[in-house]
Amino acid sequence: MFTRHPNGLRLLSVHAHPDDESSKGAATLARYAAEGVDVLVATCTGGERGSVLNPAVDRPEVRADIARVRREEMAAAREILGVRQQFLGFVDSGMPGPDEPLPEGCFAARPVELAAAPLVALIREFRPQVVITYDETGGYPHPDHVMTHLVTVAAVEAAGDPELHPGLGEPWQVPKLYYHLALSRAWFQSLHEAMTERGVPSEMGELLTGWPDTPPALATTTRIACAEQFAVRDAAMLAHATQVQPGVAFMSHPRDIEREVWPTEDYHLARSLVPGPGETAVAGEIETDLFAGLRAEAGAGAG
Ligand SMILES: [Zn+2]
Repeated sequence: MFTRHPNGLRLLSVHAHPDDESSKGAATLARYAAEGVDVLVATCTGGERGSVLNPAVDRPEVRADIARVRREEMAAAREILGVRQQFLGFVDSGMPGPDEPLPEGCFAARPVELAAAPLVALIREFRPQVVITYDETGGYPHPDHVMTHLVTVAAVEAAGDPELHPGLGEPWQVPKLYYHLALSRAWFQSLHEAMTERGVPSEMGELLTGWPDTPPALATTTRIACAEQFAVRDAAMLAHATQVQPGVAFMSHPRDIEREVWPTEDYHLARSLVPGPGETAVAGEIETDLFAGLRAEAGAGAG
């Protein structure tokens, strides 16, 4: 089913809902796709329980058919980013209140081991050298984001284990697993300060004041230069018209300021079977390529 790209490099990015691939790490995906890497987005749920967040498209017929609308938005974003995308077929858990139970049968209510099976099958078929997902906090306190982390870690482990899921394809060891550090407090802070210094009104101050008391972010091991892809990232985000109101705080800053003060998307290398990159990351050296340590080998036929 998967045709092999000439450079043999494959990147899998696992997300919770349609639109997450465009708000976290989208410029990275566009950069690698443009370079000829085979880039696949796996979307765990259909986003069926998402609200319409953009008044401009908040119409009864859109709300009544949100699952279809979000599939169409996803198809448009995928084209813009130049990547492939597959749904894993789970149902959005929504955002239950503190004492509310998860809806029956939703993604986050599934046992992790069972929910990992479709992703195990996908990893064994696609054979990515690099997998990206969220850290254990989910990066955002939505049950589907936390579940996406759990399922991805479980699937990466299980995919390489011949004892597990023997019916789901030949085992594949994923050499590198990364977590997103996107939309971090430091990113908002840097942009807010740069705008303020330049006398540009910033929408980010309020957001920073109300920033929850979260544990310190994971160490940045990897920075991917992708300022040239910011316009593609923005276009992909806006393709999810029900999910983003143009001009919201995380998109309202001038892009020339972003290119100047934060021209990268950043990652934490969570697991590596490749000697070198992990060691340099430990030594405090920052990787500038998700495929560091993997390029020669991939060309020699790892795929
Ligand atoms: Zn999401």
